[in-house]
Amino acid sequence: MDDSVIVHIGLGANLDDPRRQILDALVELEQLEGCAALRASSLYASLPMGPPDQPDYINAVAEMECRLPPEILLDALQILENRHGRIRRQHWGPRTLDLDLLLFGERRIDTPRLKIPHPGLTERAFVLLPLAELMGEEWRIPGVGRLGDCLERVDLAGVRRLGGGEA
Ligand code: AMP
Repeated sequence: MDDSVIVHIGLGANLDDPRRQILDALVELEQLEGCAALRASSLYASLPMGPPDQPDYINAVAEMECRLPPEILLDALQILENRHGRIRRQHWGPRTLDLDLLLFGERRIDTPRLKIPHPGLTERAFVLLPLAELMGEEWRIPGVGRLGDCLERVDLAGVRRLGGGEA
């Protein structure tokens, strides 16, 4: 696609059949106007961040080509979250679908509404592991550094890759 940028999106869900929420969201992402060529990681199960009295999360990372400006892509992601009935009851509380814009090509953005690279990217094993599956550990995360180095700095214990049919 002309003028397109490779973007990476982190997906997470822990309510209402989370595996289904993620699989449906991957289809919906590929169907977004101005986006194409989606590649998705496996699904991963992870222990919840924040309040512990909530179900485990299902996570994945998607890569796609995108012609939309970053803020318009964020709008589209938030519309998808809302369509999945996301309820923001508590910070880091349970949610049906959480979509984070992790990377937007080589762009760095720091506005009140949008920060790229996503600030949680380097600290979250449930983002780094699926990203490494797609890009390889030698890949240099734009604005951050080698992916394998980031993986060495996080605790991988709470995250496991799911085989077919699990979750
Ligand atoms: P969360 O509850 O983690 O989904 O955070 C949502 C808020 O984070 C929204 O108000 C967004 O405007 C803001 N935000 C800042 N940077 C990003 C990003 N890279 N991806 C998604 N949301 C972002």
